[in-house]
Amino acid sequence: MKLKLGVFIPELLRHLFKRPSTVSYPFEKLNLPKDFRGTPVLRPELCIVCKSCVRDCPAFAIEIETLSEEEKKYRMTIHNDRCIHCAQCVESCPTGALYMNDEYEIATDSRRKLKIEYIYTRPKKAAQKHSEK
Ligand code: SF4
Ligand code: SF4
Repeated sequence: MKLKLGVFIPELLRHLFKRPSTVSYPFEKLNLPKDFRGTPVLRPELCIVCKSCVRDCPAFAIEIETLSEEEKKYRMTIHNDRCIHCAQCVESCPTGALYMNDEYEIATDSRRKLKIEYIYTRPKKAAQKHSEK
């Protein structure tokens, strides 16, 4: 089959002066969209331990254990190796105790490093929901 160069040359010239359509990641950081869903993070001081996040997480990525009934002390574990970044936990939380951060470079050599633990006591007063990050 003969290649007709005349067909390709105008196309080639057009692309020589165009900006690339691809991004230079990882050499350049990405501009994240406004509502980018990174990784869930807990604000322990707002958590009333209602467990709505545990109930609604489709990936079973959140656990809450009671460490002390008397002291109202709890441990929340977020398993980021299971998290599918859907932000359902953020939607379900009645006090705004969870938010999604901007992190997207969380790859690691061990899934154990993706486990995040928070040990905290339940606040005395129930907090109001807020959306501030
Ligand atoms: S973002 Fe989705 S998958 Fe991840 S912990 Fe929250 S509810 Fe679960
Ligand atoms: S993080 Fe929110 S939804 Fe989860 S237990 Fe605490 S208050 Fe309830």
